Amino acid sequence: MVCWSESFAIQPVQPVQPVNNRGKVFSDRPDYIRGIRFLEEKHDMLWNDDYKMIGYYSDIICSGGVFSDYENEQLMKAVYVSYLSHLNHYRYSGEPYITHPLSVALILASSRADCVTIVAGLLHDTVEDTDLTFRDIFILFGYDVVKIVEGETKVSKLPKMRRGKDTLKRDQDENLMKMFIAMSDDWRIVILKLADRLHNMRTLQYMSPPKQVEIAKETLILFAPLAHRLGLWMYKVELEDLSFRYAYPEEYFDVSRRVENRKELFEENLEFAEKQIRSCLRSMDIRSYEIQMRTKTIYSIWRKMRDNSCNIEGILDLMAIRIILKENTTPFDDISMCYLVLGQVHRLWTPLPKTLKDYLSHPKPNGYKSLHTTVLINGYPVEIQIRTAEMHYVAEWGTAAHWAYKSDVSNRVSEEMLWLREIKEWEVESPSIFMERVRNELLGTRTFVFGPNGDIMNLARGTTLGDLVEGGLLTDHVMVNGVCQSLGYKMKNGDLLI
Ligand code: MN
Repeated sequence: MVCWSESFAIQPVQPVQPVNNRGKVFSDRPDYIRGIRFLEEKHDMLWNDDYKMIGYYSDIICSGGVFSDYENEQLMKAVYVSYLSHLNHYRYSGEPYITHPLSVALILASSRADCVTIVAGLLHDTVEDTDLTFRDIFILFGYDVVKIVEGETKVSKLPKMRRGKDTLKRDQDENLMKMFIAMSDDWRIVILKLADRLHNMRTLQYMSPPKQVEIAKETLILFAPLAHRLGLWMYKVELEDLSFRYAYPEEYFDVSRRVENRKELFEENLEFAEKQIRSCLRSMDIRSYEIQMRTKTIYSIWRKMRDNSCNIEGILDLMAIRIILKENTTPFDDISMCYLVLGQVHRLWTPLPKTLKDYLSHPKPNGYKSLHTTVLINGYPVEIQIRTAEMHYVAEWGTAAHWAYKSDVSNRVSEEMLWLREIKEWEVESPSIFMERVRNELLGTRTFVFGPNGDIMNLARGTTLGDLVEGGLLTDHVMVNGVCQSLGYKMKNGDLLI
């Protein structure tokens, strides 16, 4: 990681030439010159606010991934552009608007999104709300960033769900499908959309109560299941709890009161168990590990109580402890170590019958691996999960993480995705196969592209650029995904016409 204070953060930002050949088509246009001058013109203003932006920037690079010098420069530039574009804009909360794109970028950075996605996160509301244009973004940050920002903007413009129960299910499917069309071009659009929604949910208290309920229900019905299907658990869990609170306040506060009443007991018990586990691991000469403890989320407690029609005492995994084994310096392999630790845990506490789940021998179809057991500690059931650091990464970020994010285990996981291809169940598919099926089966013989006005054009498969020009739908100097194409070009799903 480059230290921000020394190298470039204090320097005025130099616009970077677009890295791909596509940029060249713009080079003799006024827009290009305008883009290059974008920062120069506003340069006078930079110095007063430098300290703020440097702070924002360092928050981003300190919260997750490792970036190259070029990426660091792009991130810094995006912070500047976003900050300047949103100057004098405020959120409902009264905070400067920049806090929103910045928080979205931080969520993305901490979930290990790549640089392009984080840059897009910083810029995602600029085109809609400020004078910045897609071309400016294209010139300043290149095609990938503009594609994601444009995709996200399109998704936001999709018709909102109508209220009323009867139409909810149908609208949900319809919106889901539209969203998938919008996102089929680049997977990172959905991750940005989820991060955007997550921050909006975190700041929902500033909206009017009817709006709160509407947004919360849409999140619960649409975005939380979407995060679930992608295996983005961290997003899913928080989206669920936040929207449950606003959509069903009575139920939420009922459950949370019960949890609150038991909080001290939970904490004491978990603390006690942690001490025991640590000394047990020490005696096994295991030094590199992490212990995490959690109580079940409000929403999942409520759902379990409803589904099993039981009370809170009947839930066996209210408390859970996770043992993550890191660097293994023992003579045994990683898998054996998990079983050895399990054996020790069962010697410490009596396991409840039929609670042992061995996802090492039988991984879940989505690739999840772990050992689960429920033991009685001081008379209370506690679920204990044992896994390696690598298994933990997959469990937290899902197969989507490997698809979209940098990862050195990507090869192995793509093999797992091939194996997943055999399983024809919606719930358990990997995102890429899922998207493939969406393209082939749901979209059928139609092709959906984004028109210059931001509308989705529904075309027969095989429609060419020439057909659209002849039909008067387009002028002939329109570009497809930022590239000039011949009139014979066949439109593809998710194509973007600028
Ligand atoms: Mn936003």
